Amino acid sequence: MHMQDQVYQESIQDPEDFWQQQAGNVHWHKKPDRALQKTTKTLKNGIKHDHWSWYPGGEISTTYNCVDRHVHNGNGDSIAICWDSPVTGLKEQYTYKQLLEEVQTLAGVLREEGVKKGDVVLIYMPMIPAALFAMLSIARIGAIHAVVFGGFSPSSLAQRMEASRPRAVMTASCGIEGSKGPVGYKSLLEEAVQKSSHKPSKTIIWQREQHRWDPVLKEDGQRNWQRLVKSARNRGLRAHAVPVKSSDGLYIIYTSGTTGLPKGVVREAGGHAVGLNFSVKYLFGIHGPGDVMFTASDIGWVVGHSYIVYAPLLAGATTVLFEGKPVGTPDASTFWRIIEEYKVNTMFTAPTALRAIRREDGDNDYFEQIYGNRGGLRSLRALFLAGERSEPSIVQMYQKLLAKHCAGGAVVVDNWWSSESGSPISGIALSAAAGQEFASPHRHEPLAIKPGSAGKAMPGFDVRVVDDEGNEVERGNMGNIVMAIPLAPTAFTTLWEDEERFYRGYLKRFDGKWVDTGDAGMIDEEGYISIMSRSDDIINVAAHRFSTVGAIEQAITSHPGIAEAAVVGVPDQLKGHLPFAFITLTTHHHPHAAVPDDKLLKEVQSLVREQIGAIASLGGMIQGKGMIPKTRSGKTLRRVLRELLENATHGDFGKEVQVPTTIEDAEAVEVARAKIKEYFRQKGADLHKATEARAKL
Ligand code: AMP
Repeated sequence: MHMQDQVYQESIQDPEDFWQQQAGNVHWHKKPDRALQKTTKTLKNGIKHDHWSWYPGGEISTTYNCVDRHVHNGNGDSIAICWDSPVTGLKEQYTYKQLLEEVQTLAGVLREEGVKKGDVVLIYMPMIPAALFAMLSIARIGAIHAVVFGGFSPSSLAQRMEASRPRAVMTASCGIEGSKGPVGYKSLLEEAVQKSSHKPSKTIIWQREQHRWDPVLKEDGQRNWQRLVKSARNRGLRAHAVPVKSSDGLYIIYTSGTTGLPKGVVREAGGHAVGLNFSVKYLFGIHGPGDVMFTASDIGWVVGHSYIVYAPLLAGATTVLFEGKPVGTPDASTFWRIIEEYKVNTMFTAPTALRAIRREDGDNDYFEQIYGNRGGLRSLRALFLAGERSEPSIVQMYQKLLAKHCAGGAVVVDNWWSSESGSPISGIALSAAAGQEFASPHRHEPLAIKPGSAGKAMPGFDVRVVDDEGNEVERGNMGNIVMAIPLAPTAFTTLWEDEERFYRGYLKRFDGKWVDTGDAGMIDEEGYISIMSRSDDIINVAAHRFSTVGAIEQAITSHPGIAEAAVVGVPDQLKGHLPFAFITLTTHHHPHAAVPDDKLLKEVQSLVREQIGAIASLGGMIQGKGMIPKTRSGKTLRRVLRELLENATHGDFGKEVQVPTTIEDAEAVEVARAKIKEYFRQKGADLHKATEARAKL
């Protein structure tokens, strides 16, 4: 049996023993009585459901584990944070000792400003070191942070403010989004405070030179962050680490929720520290001082919380904080530059970032020009991808690049998870034996990668595939992906002050038997998991229910001329729904028309037929650039495209569509709208003609 399978079995068969051992790798102010406790909860309406908690009786400080511990262990001079901001041209580094000094002082400031244990503090900040100081300082005094993407619209910020009722807000005078220049936060935040019925009593502002917050309104509770810190430093003010109960919240994170009110996932202190410390070593191969992790994400997203901030710091390793974008800051070679400059060992990003790089540098020509012969990327052992499905073509392309330029055996690892899970639910573990050094000659080879699959279940996550009645389907069949209780320690056990919604959102669908992940896919004979789509993105064609947006997109992007595809279902009188594709071509082609030429459409149709079957042939295809809307965390907003298309089939091209506040590029919606209009005009404003044409292909 492969070590990854063995470790997994142990975690499922004896979770108490497995997670008790892992608990020994972090510092407890008070040791827990046991690892796992199973109980039941009763909702107001009398419904009972299973509940579990990790490390009851324990008391822990996450900040102590991330910072103080390493200084006390003699690693104070190791680098904790490397900050790189290509647009401002700034770079900074902090050792663990320096980080401790920053965090102790800022925690003292927060306390003086009236923040107490158990209070919520909202963070609305760009990707600068102060944002990390803020997270760690809040945790240091036992308060709870709620990080919202910097630059979010006032209404979504107000929504999260209402929901989490923060005592204070920590923010900055501006953010810098790609090459667009500084975005002032003052008006955004002030408008949000005005909209929210809950008013935070303090707003602590980090002044950036690129764009200042002016004036700082003292009477409204606004404070200059740097001034407060300076004064605290002069007075020698410091706050020590305050332990909290294992089940106390470390942070709240709002899911990218495309509809309705945001769901506040609560991360519990004990399980989070143990589970993340385990995962960063076991799965990501980051063990301690000297190891460098670069997660190109945002602290507003769970990936940023876990793998920019907490996990590398728990391990005592170096984290690279990057205030830039995959392309445009200044170009598509930025990620590689970072890997070379900081000798990165593990990189983590979203597949959408790689697609953006591929669009600019599809043949790696530019990459080869710079890195072809100089061997600067040999430190890199793995490229982790998450956030949405990675199509095999993207995995294969970068696997080839890694094999040629990076460390021996370097791999691309698709891993699947969510805000709720806190760490990957599935993946391919780099250090298949827990705690084993990556470089050890005795290490087991990681399991083989299967492009298109997100690897195997990680320890503690008991993943199953079930039909709509909750019965398990046979291996290799598509279905709803669920998990058995308990979830692994990093995962949530409830929503912020809303147990009823937790039940409704995750347990009710299968009568409390399974936790619903909202994803559809399958597990193969060997245990590899493939995530094919969100359950609500499933397309029904002629009563065949098949979760194929992922599969169809995969077939389409196997065409070398296509860089990206988003597939949605359009209503069809005969078939119920037909798959319809939005595609972006590689830069070699410069399409002007929304309607692709017949040759391309034919080639794509035959790829879809070969790989999936005639039933999946497309009802239409639109080509264009910049028309696939994404969330800030890099997820394709298929629902928006679907709505635009549906409206178009009714001849309505102007109708407003519901655009989630988490959208990254609102302009894409208008580009898509224009492209759809052009397409329908050219096709005679009648999709059924396109359907007929499809039958002939
Ligand atoms: P969020 O909690 O907002 O980060 O979103 C979690 C969702 O992102 C999951 O439920 C999946 O639908 C999707 N997702 C994340 N990682 C992957 C992956 N590796 N493959 C496919 N879907 C993914």
